[in-house]
Amino acid sequence: MTVTAPDATRSPLDDAHDQLRAAATALDIEPGLVDLLGQARREISVGVPLRRDDGSVEVFRGYRVQHNFSRGPAKGGVRFAPSVDLDEVRALAMWMTWKCALVDLPYGGAKGGVAIDPRQYSIEEIERVTRRYTSEILPVIGPDRDIPAPDIGTDERTMAWMMDTFSVSSGYTVQSVVTGKPIALGGSLGRATSTSRGVALMASAALERLGIAPAAATAAVQGFGKVGSYAAGFLADAGVHVVAVSDQYGAVYREGGLDVAALSAYAAEHGTVVGYPDADPIPAEELLLLRVTVLVPAAVEGVIHVDNVDQVQARIIVEGANGPLSSIADSRLADRDVLVVPDILANAGGVIVSYFEWVQAKQTYRWSLDTVESRLEERMLGAWNAVTAEQRSAGGTLRDAAMRIAVSRVLDAHRNRGLYP
Ligand code: NAD
Repeated sequence: MTVTAPDATRSPLDDAHDQLRAAATALDIEPGLVDLLGQARREISVGVPLRRDDGSVEVFRGYRVQHNFSRGPAKGGVRFAPSVDLDEVRALAMWMTWKCALVDLPYGGAKGGVAIDPRQYSIEEIERVTRRYTSEILPVIGPDRDIPAPDIGTDERTMAWMMDTFSVSSGYTVQSVVTGKPIALGGSLGRATSTSRGVALMASAALERLGIAPAAATAAVQGFGKVGSYAAGFLADAGVHVVAVSDQYGAVYREGGLDVAALSAYAAEHGTVVGYPDADPIPAEELLLLRVTVLVPAAVEGVIHVDNVDQVQARIIVEGANGPLSSIADSRLADRDVLVVPDILANAGGVIVSYFEWVQAKQTYRWSLDTVESRLEERMLGAWNAVTAEQRSAGGTLRDAAMRIAVSRVLDAHRNRGLYP
């Protein structure tokens, strides 16, 4: 992969473009089509005014970026975080296009977000921000246009407010406009744990590939939110010793393995893993550098970069988060033969079960948890097998192989539809 500038001056969008260029070179795609795939089809930037509980008014910036519709309606999460900006949302939308294509869902990619720190506002304020943001992007979302889902800083309650706002404006209940909803509103059984279940499945597949038994493996998980907390639990259930976890406040470590259930209960009560009594505190940055078998970054983009990649000691990295490795870090890890399961494969379990939720809502017919989980496993392992077969036949890293499959599927759809007009 050709990387043109040092990490500090680069954004996740630069990393996303590097990945696309590498795939385009390998697939010999003509420059005009690379341009088409490198740009979003539609981008919306909106002001989101909030009347605060004390009566004052604050305005936030919100975005929705729809990267590609060649394979179907756009699909992607909504992020509430202070760091949200247009380039980040563009990168995340592009990765969604590749992810949906890789696991063969009939979707293109989208992403949205509001630049707000939700922890600084009351529940009522977050509800008003969610409803106003939803109404601003209303013209471009819908069950057959673009279907939002939760991401960092949002959850099933946010999706319930989005669905309700959309439904009120439609005049009837539209369950299939968002996924990741509460079960009572048409959410799917198994959706809440689906991303993490997929991450753990990919970790197990990677361990098997290296001939390492789960009981002989250790893991560290960065981020203890919707993805990281359940991923740590599933890894522990598989017999892996989860020795460290972190969140934005700090990290905890226990050499013999953490009791993930007890830690989850502690984090639910205290809002952080920091202070958990049955482990030692360590600096959050050190978690990424521990000598572990499996590292699961499940927080934000760009956490492994030019300045810390050489100290990373894990043998396997499973990208629970989107874009946790910068392009430079990614190529250095490849040089050192660290097995990286790329985000568009590793964390695809969430969008797979979101797809199942959308299908169930459209059919008004519920599937059992067993059905959801066995179909999730079948898709994840099918994608793992396709990516490893592509790697064996055409070389490169798992990311290179995954990108070649995903980009060629999107191009195939595009070529069949033709360019309008
Ligand atoms: P979340 O808001 O539920 O949790 C994020 C966690 O990361 C929190 O524990 C937070 O404290 C922690 N965190 C934030 N910054 C950190 C830092 N610098 N160091 C350590 N920890 C930090 O979000 P989530 O839904 O779990 O999403 C996490 C990642 O997974 C994101 O990259 C998201 O795009 C990706 N992802 C999520 C889903 C999903 O279904 N939720 C699906 C696919 C990918």
